[in-house]
Amino acid sequence: MYPMNLETLAIQVTRFHDKNASAVSTPIYLTSTFERDHEGNLPHGFLYSRGNNPNRDLLEKSLAILEGGAAGLAFGSGMAAIAALFQAFRPGDHVITTPFVYYAAQRLLADVFEPWGLEYTLVDTSDIAAVEAAIRPNTRLFWLETPSNPLLCITDIAALAKLAHEVGAVCAVDNTWATPVLQRPLALGADVVMHSTTKYFGGHSDVLGGALVVAEEGELSYRLRQIQNLTGGIPSPFDCWLITRGIQTLPLRVRQQSVHAEKVARWLVGQPGVEKVYYPGLEEHPGHEVALAQMKDGFGGMLSFEVGGGLPAARSVAGALKVFTQATSLGGVESLIEPRKIYEGPDSPTPDGLLRVSVGLEHPDDLIADLDQALKSLK
Ligand SMILES: *Cc1c(COP(=O)(O)O)cnc(C)c1O
Repeated sequence: MYPMNLETLAIQVTRFHDKNASAVSTPIYLTSTFERDHEGNLPHGFLYSRGNNPNRDLLEKSLAILEGGAAGLAFGSGMAAIAALFQAFRPGDHVITTPFVYYAAQRLLADVFEPWGLEYTLVDTSDIAAVEAAIRPNTRLFWLETPSNPLLCITDIAALAKLAHEVGAVCAVDNTWATPVLQRPLALGADVVMHSTTKYFGGHSDVLGGALVVAEEGELSYRLRQIQNLTGGIPSPFDCWLITRGIQTLPLRVRQQSVHAEKVARWLVGQPGVEKVYYPGLEEHPGHEVALAQMKDGFGGMLSFEVGGGLPAARSVAGALKVFTQATSLGGVESLIEPRKIYEGPDSPTPDGLLRVSVGLEHPDDLIADLDQALKSLK
């Protein structure tokens, strides 16, 4: 039996019960292989670390419990997790996703999986009728992301999971930005949840990782495990250890970062030079109602805003900040900012003047003061 509250759960499920030394902190099993006993058996069930390792096992079990799924699978990066999911489908299958999906996921479809035979359609998944119209007889996967990176588009997970199931497709959700602290896609009907654990799970910008959590065991989970083991895109024991440790403070960090982000977003609205603020917690956000219904305890630590003057203005604001660090990635304790367009291709829907912000754990008043002086330096 697991306790009810996420804070308790995050600490209980990540505890390793060390039979050798009763260490309270989890030992790191830096081993590629495991010894057999005299009868040739594997006393603890571990064979070879591509297949499994105690640190990965602990991480995978923790991920499954936090997302309310049957099993978790850890990968060496978020992209490795997405690639494993796409590989579980076959040439000739069709994927529906949105033009607002994480840019590298779209490139993965266009540059790797389409030549391999996987078909896909980009359709705004916040528009259910448009998704319905994009369904083909061979549609097998809905690949959703909400809130999306970097435009914070909101997709109704329950409605699309229902639609996917009506046509026999799998509904998978990239839950990196919300985390299970704020949103639990499996409880809303999705079949698979994906994470870049590089972000909030790790939480300290010191490790890369990815994860898939399946709602139930079956053909798909079997296939995903097979792909994980046969293609070998797995995290090291130390990476697993860092991410598992990050999970212990995940609820605390995400809730607080969400409070800070909402404060910063509300302050940004109407500031001179700021043309638009993207944050689902704002009443004027087009996805606010859906976000309110499917997220709880906040809208996340990520926001974006657009400055007049395009990319040069965005670059100059980012360059003038002193508390924020100008870097890509997100979800760490430190606030990061980046003019997003430079990381995406010319075909991305991201506006030139867009700054993507990962709000950290610094005092929000200091973040606001920093943004204030940087925006004033624009004129
Ligand atoms: C960062 C990110 C990814 C990719 O994860 P990596 O760990 O960088 O491979 C996927 N989806 C979203 C929403 C992300 O923010």
